[in-house]
Amino acid sequence: MPLLVMKFGGTSVATLDRIRRAAKRVGREVANGYDVIVIVSAMAGKTNELVGWVEETSKLYDAREYDAVVSSGEQVTAGLMALTLQEMDVPARSWQGWQVPLQTTNAHASARIEDIGTEAINAKFAEGMRVAVVAGFQGISPENRVTTLGRGGSDTTAVAFAAAFGAERCDIYTDVDGVYTTDPRITAKARKLDKIAFEEMLELASLGAKVLQTRSVELAMRYKVKLRVLSSFEDTDQDGTAGTLVCDEEDIMESNVVAGVAYSRDEAKMTLLSVADRPGIAAAIFGPLSEAGVNVDMIVQNISEDGRTDMTFSLPTNQVERAKAAMTAVKDSGDVNYAELVTDEDVAKVSVVGIGMRSHAGVAAQMFQALRDEGINIKVITTSEIKISVLIDRKYMELAVQALHDAFGLEKAA
Ligand code: ADP
Ligand code: ASP
Ligand code: MG
Repeated sequence: MPLLVMKFGGTSVATLDRIRRAAKRVGREVANGYDVIVIVSAMAGKTNELVGWVEETSKLYDAREYDAVVSSGEQVTAGLMALTLQEMDVPARSWQGWQVPLQTTNAHASARIEDIGTEAINAKFAEGMRVAVVAGFQGISPENRVTTLGRGGSDTTAVAFAAAFGAERCDIYTDVDGVYTTDPRITAKARKLDKIAFEEMLELASLGAKVLQTRSVELAMRYKVKLRVLSSFEDTDQDGTAGTLVCDEEDIMESNVVAGVAYSRDEAKMTLLSVADRPGIAAAIFGPLSEAGVNVDMIVQNISEDGRTDMTFSLPTNQVERAKAAMTAVKDSGDVNYAELVTDEDVAKVSVVGIGMRSHAGVAAQMFQALRDEGINIKVITTSEIKISVLIDRKYMELAVQALHDAFGLEKAA
């Protein structure tokens, strides 16, 4: 029988009533002749609550126990979804990550999927089961411990299952009806895209658009999974074309130069003032930061005339303390001699993304002008072939997203 993967995010399984609505959608696909693998998230807000409990209990917590706690939300919704389907006379049962098994690396709290066993689930399908409900976000490590895949990881579970089982499609049901030109919560002018290229989606996701976890897009691209994002609240999907299809660039006829605007709120900026400008200095700074588990993003070095330099980098706000400790340690050990460490925790990153930038010059200039017109100062800039990112004061973040959305005319299709 043909197979579909259907993933329901937190808001789509937030109450028993919503689980029933989601189950009805699954039931419809079963009636259409599909076997279905359903991937569920925890109920909305549950994972945040669990993370809060862990942090309150232990400041420098053991990541293995963090995973034991935060993976539990998905266990509940998987069981409830299976029960709901059974009540509808749909043959279904639930699986936790370890039961599948979904094997991952040892990197607790941000583990990567290594392998998905298909035998147990396929055997049940062969016996007449129509729906396998799988707890998203979780797996099992080589050490037999429960792992999680990083926040938003159920998307990745879904795409990985679609690849492993050769599903016809992977449908991501969420609280918006597709991928938009920017977060619709920031501007009402945001426009739903019918299609978006993998590469653009990958950039948008990694630059903060949390509608899909970055890793899920990577996997879909690599394994050629037909990936769709759609609303679990609207009943418009009669012919399988609702929502947004994430697809190859070649499958999109017309597109704007800039496809979308993304933002990331919780950024911080650190500057080491007056460090010696010598070979190896960057390695002496960023090596220890990486060892301390700090995810450095943007980097700028200002060369000064007297043989000294200022080194600025950005990082997630919640890693500032770790970064400070690492930089104090390199100063104390004499490896990096800087005058002062300045931290700015009130910044945000705003980015424009589009494959059209490869062939169109002037996007950066247009972006900087739009920000200037709003009086927004740019602190750091980085670019790649298909994106430009700027670091700005956080209080201007929404304004910057709106201004860029207007400047690039994103409310209208090309
Ligand atoms: P789920 O719980 O279903 O996984 P998420 O909250 O993780 O849902 O992701 C959906 C949210 O992503 C939307 O509510 C929206 O606010 C946000 N979002 C950010 N950028 C975009 C975008 N470009 N298009 C659509 N949604 C976006
Ligand atoms: N429940 C997890 C989270 O909130 C995983 C997910 O929803 O994708 O991050
Ligand atoms: Mg999500």
